[in-house]
Amino acid sequence: MLIIKNAFVVELDKVTNILIDDGKIKRIGDFSLEESSKVVDAKGMFVMPSFSDSHFHLRNPGQEYKQTYKEANDACLKGGYTDVVALANTNPVVDSVEVLNEVKSGTRELALDVYQVASVTKGLNGKDLVDFDELVKHTMIFSDDGKNVDDANVMREALKKSEELGFIIMDHSEPESEMVIRNIELVKEAGGNLHFCHVSKKESIEALIKAKDEGVKVTFEVTPHHLFSTDLDYRVNPPIATKADVASQIEAIKGGYVDSIGTDHAPHTEEDKKNGSPGIINIETAYSMIRKVFYENGVDMKTLVKLMSKWPAKLVGKERGIFEGAVADIVIASDEEYKIDKYSFVTRSKNTPFHGRDVKGKVLMTIAKGEIVYDNGELETKGDR
Ligand SMILES: [Zn+2]
Repeated sequence: MLIIKNAFVVELDKVTNILIDDGKIKRIGDFSLEESSKVVDAKGMFVMPSFSDSHFHLRNPGQEYKQTYKEANDACLKGGYTDVVALANTNPVVDSVEVLNEVKSGTRELALDVYQVASVTKGLNGKDLVDFDELVKHTMIFSDDGKNVDDANVMREALKKSEELGFIIMDHSEPESEMVIRNIELVKEAGGNLHFCHVSKKESIEALIKAKDEGVKVTFEVTPHHLFSTDLDYRVNPPIATKADVASQIEAIKGGYVDSIGTDHAPHTEEDKKNGSPGIINIETAYSMIRKVFYENGVDMKTLVKLMSKWPAKLVGKERGIFEGAVADIVIASDEEYKIDKYSFVTRSKNTPFHGRDVKGKVLMTIAKGEIVYDNGELETKGDR
């Protein structure tokens, strides 16, 4: 049994106590704090359902030199994440049941829940569709992320299968706005469930807002790094945005148009970065980056919970929240300011341009299915530990 007392629960907008037993939230409110229980004092802290990442690069199989399964697990839990959607651009590409099962066995022992995506085309070749009928028995999300599906006919056929079988396609549009606009048109024609990854440009956002207003069924995510910085020379895909682009992202968030924050956490070695590999690692600091940006732009904490936790959790079939009967997936965070220190990252890669930058809000504890899986030691805890 675990008790979190004096918790400011963001979605309830009040201070209360939470009783966790058998992996679930059993009681919220006033109850006797039994002596045998482990008690965590969360006074002055935010308590939220744990985060779920709609866009994560696990780097396995095949690229353990960028990040191991264990490092991915530890980095995510440290960042407050208990679920990730892992993209398919690994080596080999996740385009068969065999490779899907390899990831499944590699991640089985982790506290982190990995939802592995399969690719849309074989080997990300952009031409030959994977065997959707077979693969949907194992995953309901498909993506050629890392590459654009250039051929409109291939994309149209994939969308038709998505409509028929009910799976989701996560789209990496490049060049961004041009392909976002093309793919919205393809959804109008062919149907399907299309989620746009890492949308950053004003033109793309405007096209997506218009599509949503017209009732076209599309969803999209924005990233921590595109919101956090502007006009910076660091190779990511899509490139770091302009001030006008970020203003447009914020406006779309405030208007309720953005569905999720996807970190696009993409570990690379120093050498791979020198050779031009695009990507930033940010899973360990995503909350702190988003909290800072939202605080400065007047976006409330409930919106943060929706974008970082509730919606992306639903994407992988989970109902997340702080309510009685919910699975006890919980994060406790302070609102203190600190500087990003890439040398404190648990993942081996250090590819970030944000070392030394000020952020706000630190994850102090992560609870997955009722178990404390990350504890930085700053919270007062009493009991049988
Ligand atoms: Zn991408």
